[in-house]
Amino acid sequence: MEGRIVKVAGPLIVAEGMAEARLYDVVHVGKEKLVGEILELRGDRAGIQVYEETAGLGVGEPVVSLGYPLSVELAPGLIEGIFDGIQRPLDRMAALYGARIGRGMEISNLDHTKLWHFVPQVKVGDKVAEGDVLGIVAETTIVKHKIMVPFGMSGTVQQIEEGDFNIDQTVCVLSDGERKHSLSMLQRWPVRRARPYRSKLMPNEPLITGQRVIDTLFPIAKGGVAAVPGPFGSGKTVVQHQISKWADAEIIVYVGCGERGNEMTDVLKEFPELLDPNTGEPLMKRTVLIANTSDMPVAAREASIYTGITIAEYFRDMGYHVAIMADSTSRWAEALREMSGRLEEMPGDEGYPAYLSARLAEFYERAGIVKVLGSADQVGSVTAIGAVSPPGGDLSEPVAQATLRIVKVFWGLSAALAYRRHFPAIDWLISYSLYADRLDPWYDKHVSGEFKSLRAFMMAVLGDEARLDEIVRLVGMDALSDRDRITMETAKMIREDYLHQNSFHEVDTYTGLQKQYRMLRLIKRYHDLCMVAVSEYADLTKLLSIPSKERIGRAKYLLESQMDSFDDIDKQMMVEINAIMGGEAHV
Ligand code: ADP
Repeated sequence: MEGRIVKVAGPLIVAEGMAEARLYDVVHVGKEKLVGEILELRGDRAGIQVYEETAGLGVGEPVVSLGYPLSVELAPGLIEGIFDGIQRPLDRMAALYGARIGRGMEISNLDHTKLWHFVPQVKVGDKVAEGDVLGIVAETTIVKHKIMVPFGMSGTVQQIEEGDFNIDQTVCVLSDGERKHSLSMLQRWPVRRARPYRSKLMPNEPLITGQRVIDTLFPIAKGGVAAVPGPFGSGKTVVQHQISKWADAEIIVYVGCGERGNEMTDVLKEFPELLDPNTGEPLMKRTVLIANTSDMPVAAREASIYTGITIAEYFRDMGYHVAIMADSTSRWAEALREMSGRLEEMPGDEGYPAYLSARLAEFYERAGIVKVLGSADQVGSVTAIGAVSPPGGDLSEPVAQATLRIVKVFWGLSAALAYRRHFPAIDWLISYSLYADRLDPWYDKHVSGEFKSLRAFMMAVLGDEARLDEIVRLVGMDALSDRDRITMETAKMIREDYLHQNSFHEVDTYTGLQKQYRMLRLIKRYHDLCMVAVSEYADLTKLLSIPSKERIGRAKYLLESQMDSFDDIDKQMMVEINAIMGGEAHV
């Protein structure tokens, strides 16, 4: 069945004679067979978004529906890949055609010629069902790619053997009694449909990031959803890079939507240079990169977050913990707005379509920690972290508002903190994590029963500081009581010695949870000892300048193997404070 173009409006075209096509089918548009997707069907008229430059397309040219929805190829070859929003391989295209993506280029998403070494995990005669692992391919030095029985399929293994295969060749033959099914390593999945799992679990384990302000104050669960809003230059990208590098996720999917023309090219350059600190190998060896530069058609940008999350779900289904970063969802929403405008839909708030929230929710709701299909009883998770870059940092705009209604963690970056070079500029007065309480039992068990009270202590001191700051601004520091002065000093230590963390410092860039706990405990000890001391009329000025304080300030640079030093500092602090009190108090 072939339709005809009746109208071309930028990335959107309208075609007639499309009565037999279905919504969201992929189509080939024009003589050059540009890739498009049906967004709207009215009678035999289809509104089609085209993923390639449409200049030069003419009325009357043919439009052919391929009869299936926009899908991704799932098989070995994903990891280390750099794709655009509809999974066209930017790296392989560049090698074939040069830097600019031309139109109607016929190239498969994954490399179908490359051979992968397949090692079976089941044998002839075994009964297998959907989600079961048939075999393993060592896709990179880090990632074991598990080849699974596709959704909806089961049977007895009739044939399987070890060897080198491309992703189209049969690696296993299943028989379900009536029919034989030849399975290759390749699965296709429509990007706008969530991949199935057995059951959703409650998130109760943190995704450990090694970033103190995150792990201690505003933790995210494995399978959780977070937003990082902030104005330009406040550190969104650094936060996402840090999480990509350090979080205890096995697979990273990074969806980049460039802020301006060449910003995404930076990501394309920078990301492949990042090293995985745990293995010393390039981070790309466990990463899938999806990139949209602003000179790529908006429609591909709109599709990119679904392409990304589908790939994330696929690795989750193997029993992995996956983290997906979308940087930034604001650029994605602008693509949605542009497409909606061209479809002449009724505009909502600030021109965004009324379904903006629903679309964002469709993305974030696909995150979660689940029991995956298959008989191995495995758990996998997708943690989704979206950057939001509201114009001028204004959080009342529609994308930020819609995002805040969905996510459970909010790391609000502040321009003021970034200006003071307090990084990460996550503002403790506006940020929150709704997982914190739920994760407490985990912290109790794996870090310390004291951890949650230390967090509460820290938040209380920071809250007091904000309140006392007002007074200081009006009447000056001298008006404060000794106790308040200690609170102010403790808050300063929390900010400068604890929350401030330099991503570019070899040691400071990552802090394990045990070290976070020890650092916090030192600060609280200082606070508690000083409070006792001032109640005994000890000299405040001396308390504020004991030498061990400086050691607390440098504790962030101690190696995880130097935990004994924390006891040393603690002892020294006791001695010094006791001396100020005339050696009387024993705390
Ligand atoms: P955004 O993506 O919000 O525009 P970036 O992530 O590019 O901002 O951050 C801007 C700059 O801020 C970085 O180039 C870096 O110099 C500084 N910066 C951000 N976070 C940190 C950090 N944790 N440690 C040190 N410097 C940081």
